[in-house]
Amino acid sequence: MDQMKVIIADSINEKGISDLEEVAEVLVDTSITPEELVKVIKDFDAIVVRSRTKVTREVIENAPKLKIIARAGVGVDNVDVEAATEKGIMVVNAPESTSITVAEQTMGLMLSLSRKISIADKSVKEGKWEKSRFMGLELKNKTLGIIGMGRIGSQVVIRSKAFGMDAMVYDPYISEEVGKDLGVEVVDLETIFKESDVITIHVPLTSETKHIVSTDAFEMMKDSAFIINCARGGIIDEDALYIALTENKIGGAALDVFEKEPPEGSPLLGLDNIVVTPHIGASTAEAQRDAALIVANEIIEVFKGGSARNVLNMPVLDSKTYTGLKPYLNLAEKLGSFVVQAAPGNIQELNVTYCGELADMPKKDILTRTILQGILNPILNEPVNMINAPSIAKRRGLVITEGKRSESEGYRCIIVLHVKTDAGDYLVEGTYVDEPKIIKINNYWVDVKPEGTMFIAKYQDLPGTIGAIGTKLGEYGINIATMQVGRQEVGGEAVMVLKVDQTVPEDVIKEVTKLEHVEDAVSMYL
Ligand code: NAD
Repeated sequence: MDQMKVIIADSINEKGISDLEEVAEVLVDTSITPEELVKVIKDFDAIVVRSRTKVTREVIENAPKLKIIARAGVGVDNVDVEAATEKGIMVVNAPESTSITVAEQTMGLMLSLSRKISIADKSVKEGKWEKSRFMGLELKNKTLGIIGMGRIGSQVVIRSKAFGMDAMVYDPYISEEVGKDLGVEVVDLETIFKESDVITIHVPLTSETKHIVSTDAFEMMKDSAFIINCARGGIIDEDALYIALTENKIGGAALDVFEKEPPEGSPLLGLDNIVVTPHIGASTAEAQRDAALIVANEIIEVFKGGSARNVLNMPVLDSKTYTGLKPYLNLAEKLGSFVVQAAPGNIQELNVTYCGELADMPKKDILTRTILQGILNPILNEPVNMINAPSIAKRRGLVITEGKRSESEGYRCIIVLHVKTDAGDYLVEGTYVDEPKIIKINNYWVDVKPEGTMFIAKYQDLPGTIGAIGTKLGEYGINIATMQVGRQEVGGEAVMVLKVDQTVPEDVIKEVTKLEHVEDAVSMYL
């Protein structure tokens, strides 16, 4: 196998570079221009960036070998994730690299507010000695309200305990169990606003969280409450914050992030009861080192054929889920590949039903992606993988629906694939019993291992028809390895699935379909 090549386009920690050098040829060019990058990217399997280098659509379209774009940090604003997804290129980041760093910044801001450290610092540097002006508060026994208990929120909880604070959390997407594990009470948002002495925000900016802290919230807060935002600008309504701070509806605020950055001209900057930092929540040497190590490790895993953990454009599986779904991945691809080759006409709609134990398994989306990969790969020139399969299917107007049911025809799990084409409907069902199996084709029960070259014929179950098909294939030197037939009733419609030793040419298929009582025939490779 050719040596993998990685380009590191922004400066990252040395250890990340040396880790990569153990498995790949590495080019470090941290001053590469956009024009140069477009020219050289064709040779690389992976690119590592921080925020300087933009991985644009143009870069991606000139990168036939690129498998992974790694952002040694959190935000991926500088990567065209949509273009990468369309090309089946994985985009990874290192979100956990900054969790401790941001949590520590939060604690720093909390202390700065409660002990008025930054304004006291300013005052002393101005030659003043205003001891009585800077009377502070202890954090001990104060109630800390945390909005969002993900990676950073959880680290804040842990640190707040060391300060003797009582933490409570609002996060509608975590269970009470998760709260219990961390020893915090999960409460509603109103309780956070009303009862907290300090409120800290650790949610992403979404349509739901935009201005989640606005006039109504400030009205509910204690007059002495402090609010901290180290998450994203726009979560706090800054106009409402200005009023709350100037009308002493709250005790103070600390912002690392702003609605507009830098917050040039913001009236907030003129207030004494606010502490501000220039979006440096993630800026520590340790966070940058960890980001480099994490993305280097992701690239190494992918090069070794393993899977990356922080893939932004594909569902990420934990090992338990992966183990549960793994047997069905191969089946899913075979079913997709089978249906696209067997169903007459162009597939317009696809319905996948996950039955039995699969019905309640999480992340089945990965199986649907694999089915799509199976459907699209035999018919497209461009490489289709689990990442780009949904966007290619969408581009081609394929309507996809997923369903589930507990009943599974006596098997532990089955996958039912029902497609609508411009020539009619087609159904195939499969399961996994020691190996992938197709168990039903339209209305006929079969027991077929989906691999190798297959020949499928639909015919009337009348004496001599099976023999005639076999003889016709024999006339053209096509050897039959195994045969399966499925029928619903004697003399009715039936399906024959043959494993053959070579592809059945189109003219032979035509000859077979001309035989009496044969309705349809197709050859495929799985
Ligand atoms: P995370 O994804 O691990 O956690 C986010 C949490 O927010 C999740 O538990 C989620 O359930 C919760 N959440 C989502 N919507 C919510 C809602 N409407 N109400 C309440 N909870 C909700 O993210 P993280 O790594 O902890 O990062 C948190 C924030 O910090 C993000 O906005 C991130 O961009 C920001 N961040 C800022 C800096 C900085 O430099 N200041 C650095 C890193 C991260």
